[in-house]
Amino acid sequence: MLRALEIFEEKKGGVKSEKVAGKNWVRWIHPKADSTAITHCTKCVALEDCWLLLRKCPKPPLHTRCDCELEFIDDPIAGITASGNCAIEKFEKYIFHPSILKNLGKKKLFGEWGYDIMDSKYLKSEFEKQAVARYVSGEYELGV
Ligand SMILES: [Zn+2]
Repeated sequence: MLRALEIFEEKKGGVKSEKVAGKNWVRWIHPKADSTAITHCTKCVALEDCWLLLRKCPKPPLHTRCDCELEFIDDPIAGITASGNCAIEKFEKYIFHPSILKNLGKKKLFGEWGYDIMDSKYLKSEFEKQAVARYVSGEYELGV
């Protein structure tokens, strides 16, 4: 496994290392994810197995005794090695649900665009396609 941590600063500073030629993405490895996840740092647990652009990746260690590591990976490819997941319930049981009234603004907006509950599968698919395209191009923000 090629470790990213030792050259993290070098790469982040804009100097491309020969060790990582062509590698811009890393996978976050949280070695204790299975055994001590409950008592471990919530950020580390949330980052476990995430694929991140090196330039947008937090630098481990995130805290005292953090033993997380980064592993270089191939660039994710939309629809092949990276996929999106949007719950269809977002549309069927929220936006277009007839008895939910707290989202009338969204319901009205989607209606003006010509969508209704019958389009939920299409919207789910389109949201997933657009999300993964943005993700693999580095257009994402970490929520941790
Ligand atoms: Zn950690």
